[in-house]
Amino acid sequence: MDCVMVFANSHLMLSHVNKLAVIAAHTNQSQFLYPKHDSSAEATVAGSGESSNSLPVDFVNDGKYELFGLVDGFLQSEVKKLVLNSLEGEIYSDSLIAGAMTMALCYIHRMEKECSFGQTFSSRILVIKGSEDNPAQYMNFMNAVFTAQKQNVVIDACILENESGLLQQACDITGGVYLEIPQMAGLLQYLLWIFLPDPNIRHKLTLPPKAQVDYRAACFCHRNLIDIGYVCSVCLSIFCTFSPICSTCQTTFKLLGPPKLSKKKSKKTAS
Ligand SMILES: [Zn+2]
Ligand SMILES: [Zn+2]
Repeated sequence: MDCVMVFANSHLMLSHVNKLAVIAAHTNQSQFLYPKHDSSAEATVAGSGESSNSLPVDFVNDGKYELFGLVDGFLQSEVKKLVLNSLEGEIYSDSLIAGAMTMALCYIHRMEKECSFGQTFSSRILVIKGSEDNPAQYMNFMNAVFTAQKQNVVIDACILENESGLLQQACDITGGVYLEIPQMAGLLQYLLWIFLPDPNIRHKLTLPPKAQVDYRAACFCHRNLIDIGYVCSVCLSIFCTFSPICSTCQTTFKLLGPPKLSKKKSKKTAS
């Protein structure tokens, strides 16, 4: 949490027009940690962002810049609330990343709409992930990724634990960086050196080599990641076993493929 807070503050410090939103993806819900809409915090942040010519000079007593203190306070208290509220009930090892990413995309879209001056708006999503992948979210996740690609939103992934095939695809598609942290002690350093620079200047930096992307898809019937499968020629749904009717678009297929296969099989068994 400390590393993430330093990283968030560094992002705000880089430029006075930089904006920040932090979303927690939990096992049963995703929610904004910052900014909170039901408080005056957002107004304060927006205010300090718009006063572009004069640097904000509000310092709190301990010498910490007020906005940073605000961000830290929100992240700490909201995470605490989230954890305490979900102590009871089922515990899952995966989290609702697809939902959190969709919330982030909606937030970015709103900010883009609100940004009236003729400035170009570049946005990105950094996913810091420690939980397992959930193939059941494959469809929602990929929809979010393709939406991000369409909106020119770069998706970066910082993996603390549990390698993620889905995020590898997301980063590759949107032109982001996928990195598995070799050691947790260096988390802040990785965040600051690799994920803080703007995507536009990253080609000038020497970044870790790109990881091999696991482009496996999840079948729509069991949500398992598969290497070879059947694809519906109408809606491009993927299935691990042949079925005469596509369960997504209800297209009926003529049984041309399977009989040939069975013939070959019978020949093989005959010989
Ligand atoms: Zn299946
Ligand atoms: Zn279909």
